[in-house]
Amino acid sequence: MEQRKILVIEDEQTIVDILKFNLQKEGYEVIEALDGMTGLEYALSEKPDLILLDVMLPRMDGFEVCRHVREKSMVPIIMLTAREEEVDKVLGLELGADDYMTKPFSIRELTARVKANLRRTAPEQTTGTFIPPSGAIITSGDLIVNLERYEVKKYDRVIEITLREFELLKFLATQPEKIFTRENLLENVWGYEYYGDVRTVDVTVRRLREKIEDDPGSPRYIMTKRGVGYYFNKA
Ligand code: CA
Repeated sequence: MEQRKILVIEDEQTIVDILKFNLQKEGYEVIEALDGMTGLEYALSEKPDLILLDVMLPRMDGFEVCRHVREKSMVPIIMLTAREEEVDKVLGLELGADDYMTKPFSIRELTARVKANLRRTAPEQTTGTFIPPSGAIITSGDLIVNLERYEVKKYDRVIEITLREFELLKFLATQPEKIFTRENLLENVWGYEYYGDVRTVDVTVRRLREKIEDDPGSPRYIMTKRGVGYYFNKA
């Protein structure tokens, strides 16, 4: 198997060293950037398979880096936030990060999340029970989801969507009308069995709705079953 490349953008050398040591031990290639500007450069030039991104960084903060990377790439991004503040977590997700972890984090949890996030980018290696038919195209109303091309179209126009948003949409759309709890989605779409915060699901659903729904306030595709979870409405 090809070695996966992880870009660590973090200005505290001790944390970089710990991450590097542990990720290399897991068999990953690790490249590091000690400031946001360099991080953004590497994110685009080195084509990493995953990015660990600190929030408080010199030259350009993690949110800015995340925003710029997202304009060009669907690479999984895990934000590392030093603060417990809710606003940081939500902001990171709003800007297109796939996940966040609050410092101090355990190395075990971090590597579990790295693995889970990398799994999403290697569909042929997933061992889940659910395997969508390859080349399948799902349509619902004016929405077209092309599973093979990782492409979503609405009114014949391609919608910019992150990998995680796509995975969530794919999971729901391939099993229309079936209601999933947030825990269930976290486990299946994010690949977490023990960790994770169900609010991550809510934020991603909201972001997805803003992109694919005519009126995100009264959705037609991604529906809420109050008190239970979410489902895809096959029009
Ligand atoms: Ca920092």
